[in-house]
Amino acid sequence: MPRRKPSARSPASKRTASIDLGLAAAAQLPSPAEAEALVRARVQPLPVESRPLASLAGAVLAQSVRSERDQPPFDRVMMDGIALASQAWRAGRRRFRIAGTQPAGSPPLRLEDPDACFEAMTGAVLPRGCDCVIPVERLTVEDGVAVVDEGTPVEPFWNVHTRGLDCREGDMLLTRGTMLGAPELAVLASAGLPRADVHADPRIVIVATGDELVAPDQPIEAWQVRRSNGYALRAALHLRGFHRVAEDHLPDDHAVLARRLATHLATHDVVLLTGGVSMGRFDHVPSVLRELGVEEVFHKVAQRPGKPIWFGIGPAGQTVFGLPGNPVSSLVCLLRYAVPAIYAMQGAQPRRPEQVPLGAPHAVKAALWHYLPVHVEQSPALGGVAMPRPTRGSGDFVSLLGTDGFVELPPGPRELPAGCVVAFYRW
Ligand code: AMP
Ligand code: MG
Repeated sequence: MPRRKPSARSPASKRTASIDLGLAAAAQLPSPAEAEALVRARVQPLPVESRPLASLAGAVLAQSVRSERDQPPFDRVMMDGIALASQAWRAGRRRFRIAGTQPAGSPPLRLEDPDACFEAMTGAVLPRGCDCVIPVERLTVEDGVAVVDEGTPVEPFWNVHTRGLDCREGDMLLTRGTMLGAPELAVLASAGLPRADVHADPRIVIVATGDELVAPDQPIEAWQVRRSNGYALRAALHLRGFHRVAEDHLPDDHAVLARRLATHLATHDVVLLTGGVSMGRFDHVPSVLRELGVEEVFHKVAQRPGKPIWFGIGPAGQTVFGLPGNPVSSLVCLLRYAVPAIYAMQGAQPRRPEQVPLGAPHAVKAALWHYLPVHVEQSPALGGVAMPRPTRGSGDFVSLLGTDGFVELPPGPRELPAGCVVAFYRW
């Protein structure tokens, strides 16, 4: 990458001071909730594709699913034991001749002699003529005869999972917009579907900008900085099931940015830039994006850290975020805005963040929403509480070690008491 000497830079023609916003100025900027709503209103849905079930963990369903059959589909034996007619027990019989075996996966036998029983296995269909199952723990077997313990609470349908108890054939089980986790995939398979319609995995590119950034495997000068944001952002995306993530690093050079971003826009659904969105003279990202036809929806949100965040929609509906370069800011903004944006592109139903009480008071000074890293601890009185772990600024990513995520605090100046419930976002 070309590196300019500091002396090659002409002096700033105009001073762009980065000063603390007062309440009035902050009121001009969208709040985090308003920014989030703007994002949700503007993102474009990803295309729908049919995929095999084994590849669907974390995908968002783009169809509805009804039950193929009653569930359970037959009166199902719930314990290994003997199946019999409870009427015989009520009539006083305690010894039952074992007339055969009913294994799982076999058609039902028929009990002709009500004083006999069948050995029955978990998952088997309840044999005809039987209405309950006595578990092996409650009986002894002697010479082909099962002797049931006195005091066994035998009654009709004991240890029988009756047909249609969980759902009926044709019941609506899953609707579009459902994120597919373990229970949902079990239900899809049980509905006899080898494939399902889901929204395509977004093609995401993380583009680091900055002349000072050096990859972890390259020699570094004292005045340079390791390029770390991409790794943090990629990790957060992978942990949320987004694996189609490319990466690039571009200099603070208008022409290079324009050329490379045009390519990234042509080949990705989501472009996440880091750095270059503030007020510095080498912060070219907003102007380059505008030139490439990316419509600016907002630039800056009334928050700290992460105030300079930029969001726009590309000419083909691409989601484009200019995340501030400071490591804490870029990660907070990714999780607060970009991840929900990607979920929205997949048609996922909006989710409310976890709500957690603060474990200690915290003072918010600026008239901006505040993102505070926290460690979640167990308190005897309140359960999980968020213990503040403030950083020494948005460049201090080392202080994030040992934290679980961050909380969103309302604008100051104010003192938030311990126990006050706030939205919590995990890393
Ligand atoms: P910027 O938003 O470009 O003004 O960058 C703000 C701060 O974040 C500067 O100190 C940058 O060196 C730092 N920074 C920007 N991008 C990265 C990155 N990818 N990894 C680590 N630090 C970064
Ligand atoms: Mg920069």
